[in-house]
Amino acid sequence: MDWQHLNLLEDFVSDHNVPEGADTSWHIVISDDEILTIDGEHPWRPLNQDEWRWLDLERVAQHPLGHIGGAPIYACEVDPEADNPEGYEFETLWSFLGQVDEPVFYMIGRAKQIVEWHRNHQFCGQCGGPTESSDADRSLRCKSCRQMFYPRLSPSIIVLVTRGDELLLARNAHARGNFYSTLAGFIEPGESVEAAVHREVFEEVGLSIRNLEYFSSQSWPFPNSLMLGFHAEYESGEFVLQEEEIADAQWFRYDNLPHRPAMASISGWLIDDFVRRCQD
Ligand SMILES: [Zn+2]
Repeated sequence: MDWQHLNLLEDFVSDHNVPEGADTSWHIVISDDEILTIDGEHPWRPLNQDEWRWLDLERVAQHPLGHIGGAPIYACEVDPEADNPEGYEFETLWSFLGQVDEPVFYMIGRAKQIVEWHRNHQFCGQCGGPTESSDADRSLRCKSCRQMFYPRLSPSIIVLVTRGDELLLARNAHARGNFYSTLAGFIEPGESVEAAVHREVFEEVGLSIRNLEYFSSQSWPFPNSLMLGFHAEYESGEFVLQEEEIADAQWFRYDNLPHRPAMASISGWLIDDFVRRCQD
């Protein structure tokens, strides 16, 4: 079976339980948050069953992610101190962004998040007792107090605020590189998605907005965000920047934009979508 001919979008079925001992299987190998790549294989693919079997690395845990066309696919955690085995190299998740097809990136991100969650929940946060995997779903349960732990997602909003043919873009105080992007922030407990959009814009730049329009979402596994993207229109107010978060914010005309984020991010998609509408 050839990985490059598989259609992840259509043929992947998520499952926390897959039958053991299948003739063929795929293995995404992770060591200390880095993903194993095979030298000379472009684009990236996971290891097949034989490659995984003969890989000379100490195994820590193996998590079924589901199956693709009947072949199970696993996230395989190996020794976090492991050096690159001969013929292979460990790469960061960042290095995959925009370099592999989106469904493949999401699959690698899924594997990394499952491994991370499992590693961080070996013990109960409530009583300190050891946890065990459940057969019923993807969860860990404390053996003594029965507390359950599920993989954690952190929903965030990301919003492009516009005014006529201008875009509001801001430079984040902590971001690497000198680029302008859309506003974003985490949704707080007890808050609706829409309320989070209004609050974040007001907190970060002091403006009121209207006419929220949902755009799309993006899994953003750094480490476990789910980005919910919106367009919104400026309503009122003057810039008051939240200094610890925002280094600069400005209105830019759609045909005169500053250095902006990679097209592999939802921020880039939002900007592109608006610019395209202005050009029509
Ligand atoms: Zn407990």
